[in-house]
Amino acid sequence: MSSTSANKPYIIAADLGTTSAKTLVIDRDGNVLASHSVEYPLYTPRPDMAEQDPDEIFRALLGAIQAVVVKAAIAPEQVLCVSFSSAMHSLIAIDRDLYPLTQCITWADNRSAGYVSKLKNELDGHQIYLNTGTPIHPMSPLLKLMWMKDNRPDLHQNAYKFIGIKEYVFAKLFGELVIDYSIASATGMFNLRNLDWDEQALATTGIRRDQLSRPVSTTYKLEGMKSEYAQAMGLRTDTPFVVGASDGVLANLGVGALDKGVYSVTIGTSGAVRGVVREPITDPKGRLFCYALNEHFWCVGGAINNGGIMFRWVRDQLATLEAEEGRRRGMDPYDYLTELAASVPAGSDGLIFLPLLAGERAPYWNANARGVFFGLSLYHQKTHMIRSVLEGVMYRIHSVVSALEEMNGKTKEVRASGGFARSPFWLQIMADVLDTHVAVPTSIESSGLGAAQLGMLAMGEISDFSGVNHWLHVNHHHEANPQNVEIYRRLTKIYSNVYHQLRGDFDAIAEFQKEFTK
Ligand code: ADP
Repeated sequence: MSSTSANKPYIIAADLGTTSAKTLVIDRDGNVLASHSVEYPLYTPRPDMAEQDPDEIFRALLGAIQAVVVKAAIAPEQVLCVSFSSAMHSLIAIDRDLYPLTQCITWADNRSAGYVSKLKNELDGHQIYLNTGTPIHPMSPLLKLMWMKDNRPDLHQNAYKFIGIKEYVFAKLFGELVIDYSIASATGMFNLRNLDWDEQALATTGIRRDQLSRPVSTTYKLEGMKSEYAQAMGLRTDTPFVVGASDGVLANLGVGALDKGVYSVTIGTSGAVRGVVREPITDPKGRLFCYALNEHFWCVGGAINNGGIMFRWVRDQLATLEAEEGRRRGMDPYDYLTELAASVPAGSDGLIFLPLLAGERAPYWNANARGVFFGLSLYHQKTHMIRSVLEGVMYRIHSVVSALEEMNGKTKEVRASGGFARSPFWLQIMADVLDTHVAVPTSIESSGLGAAQLGMLAMGEISDFSGVNHWLHVNHHHEANPQNVEIYRRLTKIYSNVYHQLRGDFDAIAEFQKEFTK
């Protein structure tokens, strides 16, 4: 610890998520002293729109920092720095006065869906993916700009800059437009190897390089914030703000999944598998993303749509009576449903569920995929169906892990986080399906912890991430059961064959649904 910072024992981590701004006060040993979150709405006036108000997010952030400082009862001069995490893929057009000309168009906005095949098939999209590491998907700002070019040509031509939500916050606080390498690497326009905007991607969007922010390292610091905002947050104007990275890569840092073969699996509503590599890797088959953490680490992995939302569907649609029975017994319905599932043997007596209800991202990238129960017989009961859904989500995770292993070698360990990590039963299914050791870290605030670690690095308090290894505490472990591993090995193969054989039929049924459902 340097002498000047000895009396600054606290770091504030700020995470701009999809639903709320979350803040933490963390000490130098990784203890979380206080946390606070302020929610903001997601506006969906049409099914294909998902926008937020940048100023609502900015105000939520000010409020969340102010509240966490009060909760932790710390003095402003004790704050070493504020370090940032944020959701990826957002896009805001601004004018010269840094005034927003659009709402914040989020990753969930689907208006650019029609441009996916154009980019893939007519515009050398695969090469752009290989350069940038961002999969070709409507979430990507690259596709959002292609959409804007045709649908809002006025904005596309005349906007002063196109920025993301984190850049907007820093522009308000400091009047400076910078984008960290991590968020930049999720725009679809940033060359992973040069760490600069990619000329081919820019040409595809039709925007000029000077319409984007200046890329900086994730440890870049800004100082001298506007006093009105410092006052609103209860901070000093000279408190350094560390630009930080994206929530995904910081979550890996937060759970200590940095070594080769150690992957993080997060399953909340959706899910993601990520590993850290020492140089950028892109997938010749285009299945995986690769995003920067800093100049030395990249995060490679895949996101799935059908994660915890599948169990929510079971609770709310398939097994409503059973869920109600759980509530009647004073239990969390998820826990009761899990108990029912546990009465059925591993492999659900040969019932396989393909949990593709929301279409799927990695590794299939198939918006037309749909759910399938396969192998149903008169013998099967509702309990089998419940267990097969929990197993099916793990078959999805397995398919991403397999793609990752092709690129990056065998899995040694998985660090689990998100809502599913509350269930030892579901975690055991994961250990058995992936045939690996599963560790569950105690803290659920992994992105915030990662942001704080990056803040320590930026402030010169540690020289690399091994300096914060002691921050990680593991709650419990799960080992694969060899008998179950064998069962799941056979079933994942059948699962994968069923998926591939149904490809054409998925398109046909999606087409039918489009026509006949309102
Ligand atoms: P909700 O589905 O009500 O929004 P949460 O946000 O708490 O629930 O959790 C996200 C997901 O995590 C849930 O959809 C579910 O799949 C999973 N989950 C949450 N709690 C449990 C539990 N006790 N057992 C198993 N899975 C759980």
